[in-house]
Amino acid sequence: MGSFGVYVHIPYCLQICTYCDFVKFEKKDLPPTDRYVSLLEHEIASRGPRVQQTIPSPIMHSLYFGGGTPSLLSPSEILSVIHALEKQGFQRASGAEVTLEVNPGTLTEASLDKFLEMGITRFSVGAQTFDERFLSVTGRKHSVADTVATLELLRDRGAHFSFDLLFGLPGQHLADVGSDVRRALEYGPKHLSAYCLTLPEKHRLNKGRAPDDEQAQMFDLICDDLAAGGLVRYEVSNFAVPGFESRHNLLYWSDAPYWGIGIGAHSYLPTAPWGVRFWNPPTVRSWELEMARTAGTAFWQEFEPSRVEPLQLHQAITDFTHTALRSTRGLIDTEVQRKFSAAFPDLLHEIERRALPLVRDGLLLRAEKPGRWLLSRAGHALADRVFEPLTFLKDEV
Ligand code: SF4
Repeated sequence: MGSFGVYVHIPYCLQICTYCDFVKFEKKDLPPTDRYVSLLEHEIASRGPRVQQTIPSPIMHSLYFGGGTPSLLSPSEILSVIHALEKQGFQRASGAEVTLEVNPGTLTEASLDKFLEMGITRFSVGAQTFDERFLSVTGRKHSVADTVATLELLRDRGAHFSFDLLFGLPGQHLADVGSDVRRALEYGPKHLSAYCLTLPEKHRLNKGRAPDDEQAQMFDLICDDLAAGGLVRYEVSNFAVPGFESRHNLLYWSDAPYWGIGIGAHSYLPTAPWGVRFWNPPTVRSWELEMARTAGTAFWQEFEPSRVEPLQLHQAITDFTHTALRSTRGLIDTEVQRKFSAAFPDLLHEIERRALPLVRDGLLLRAEKPGRWLLSRAGHALADRVFEPLTFLKDEV
């Protein structure tokens, strides 16, 4: 505990992928990158001091450049953002994790060397699949050859990288997923995130997808093959060689504060009594206008109500429970007590009452030393069925 992280959203993309619901724009539809970087610097300078008043320490244990495609910014632009944070007192902890998401084909030997030199410790490669047929379905412009070149570059430089794998694509079957996992492992990633394609019901990409039971088999296969390759699952969709779990992900699942900067970026700050979640508007223009309006104040209080959520006790308990269960550390009794015993002395019994039927159904496990609840393998696949009874309503607390 006591960790803090910063997320920087870089919304530039080479293409708009058919399945994507992140805040992103094609590069041509945004202001030049140097203008966006100067707005990030402005956000850091104007809001950073107020953020610091809400957190125990501004030392960053994780700094994450996500997107979009952050590797479309030059190394010097990324470095300007790091310097702006440092100038405001957001220093990197010793051994801090600094992640840059990269798209295959956007990294060169020269840019990788510069990124390594400035202290990027981890590259997250949005590769998705090694099959040209499925890449074209997703609308991604990079080729398999681009992916291979980027992975070879990272491997040859000894850089630590994570591989993003997407499965459940139209026309994709079990054997295709197995082949993607095997190929990813050939490059020695220390971390892999595996996501099943999720789409609204009427989305055109739903046509030709494997049925639900085959998608569940795909996920089982991914878990087994990665485990055989030394990557252990530490969260519903994330796998790592022990010791290489993403610290940024762990912040999200351990009730730690984080500040998100840039358009659409989400934050969670531990304001009294139960914390506040808020997020920036999704366009550069509205972000810029809002920054001008809210400088120097508890700025989130002036966001549109639809983008700020001061947590109430029942929401804080629900978030705490769900996020803890997503990670393989599980929901630990002493941590529940530490956070909620004053406000809800009987919470452990209430959690037990709701958890026992899930244990009987094989979705949840009880472990001791320390006493905690954990998702079983079946529970990972059916996490929503576990979370539903562990959702607390206002009149229940
Ligand atoms: S590159 Fe990433 S962020 Fe951009 S559209 Fe594709 S999936 Fe979305």
